[in-house]
Amino acid sequence: MSRPVQARRLEGVDKNIWVEFVKLAATYPNVNLGQGFPDFSPPDFVKEAFKKAVSGENIMLHQYTRAFGHPALVTNLARFFGKLLGQELDPMTNVLVTVGAYEALFCCFQALVDEGDEVIIIEPFFDCYEPMVKMAGGTPVFVQLRSKAAEAGKLMSSGDWRLDPAELASRFTKQTKAIVLNSPNNPLGKVFTREEMELIADLCVKHDVLCFSDEVYEWLVYDGKEHIRIASLPGMWDRTITIGSAGKTFSITGWKVGWTLGPDRLLKHLRTVHQNSVYHCPTAAQEAVAQAFQREFDNYGKQDSYFVQLAQELQQKRDWLVQSLVAVGMKPIVPEGTYFLMADISEFISEVPDLPDSDEPYDSRFIKWMIINKGLVAIPVSTFYSTPHKRNFDHLIRFCFVK
Ligand code: PMP
Repeated sequence: MSRPVQARRLEGVDKNIWVEFVKLAATYPNVNLGQGFPDFSPPDFVKEAFKKAVSGENIMLHQYTRAFGHPALVTNLARFFGKLLGQELDPMTNVLVTVGAYEALFCCFQALVDEGDEVIIIEPFFDCYEPMVKMAGGTPVFVQLRSKAAEAGKLMSSGDWRLDPAELASRFTKQTKAIVLNSPNNPLGKVFTREEMELIADLCVKHDVLCFSDEVYEWLVYDGKEHIRIASLPGMWDRTITIGSAGKTFSITGWKVGWTLGPDRLLKHLRTVHQNSVYHCPTAAQEAVAQAFQREFDNYGKQDSYFVQLAQELQQKRDWLVQSLVAVGMKPIVPEGTYFLMADISEFISEVPDLPDSDEPYDSRFIKWMIINKGLVAIPVSTFYSTPHKRNFDHLIRFCFVK
């Protein structure tokens, strides 16, 4: 039995913190503010649309539909996002429906990243980007958001974390194939400003680099901040793949409906990966999401819009969690978007002392202590950093406030 069973592409990507923390959370009674999904009902119109899809007269909604996206859904996505991107979208060639944003990301890396290609990832980052780049044979290159001190007497905001323009520029080389942008960003909740987007866009155009723009939290933006779509900036449509998720958009993470939008010259390669792996996404869920987008299109920007209501509700939940964390002595970083926030736990080091010579980052051990002794689950922020940088950021933990 000396023959290795594991494919080489899995080397170094086979450990995953989620497995350990999900298990721990299941073992002790707790309030789980770790994993990010709503514990409230999706809106009635979304549930009704699904009920109608499975019990209505159109029996074909129980069968396979078009492999690259159910016609009703790609049509509505093209209409909705075409307006926002200022771009006429062809439903058949500029939209691809995927099994959640996860599959959309996987298709991007598999279809467009080759051995020897470098992919720039902005830290802290949604943790699957790094293994996905590696599984495609690419090399992740990291650049960090750097924090500046909060204004006197104020809590730090996710907006206080910024890219250093010279540092970012230095990461673009001849080998750079793509940059991954995630705004609003998980785990920090940062909403990149137009100026920051322009900086990234200019570098992409200058170096002929692609942009994978993960915008799954596009509607969860607070305090009047604006979500900028990088594909709408000059020179970017033709080199950007925009990724979205009905899971985050309509509070239905279990449905696993996602999509990519982009030029045919890029999407045709994603279609090849999709065709030869997943092939097809559940029809009834796609039909229901199509109806939900129809309703949002009709109510766009109005108080009746779910997108408007959800952001208002979550902003209140955010403020409540911020106050609660301050009351127990943590220092939350107030997020401008998403349903996550990072909090500084440095004040607790005397209470939960660090073990010298331990390989395990402090935040990870702190959370284990917090689960067992306080019944509260969060996620270590070191998870969202590359290995060499984990220990520099292990005084931070991530909470989810969608509960
Ligand atoms: N991107 C980001 C930044 C996420 O946080 C998540 C889910 N946690 C995804 C993509 C995956 O989304 P989906 O559930 O639609 O696959």
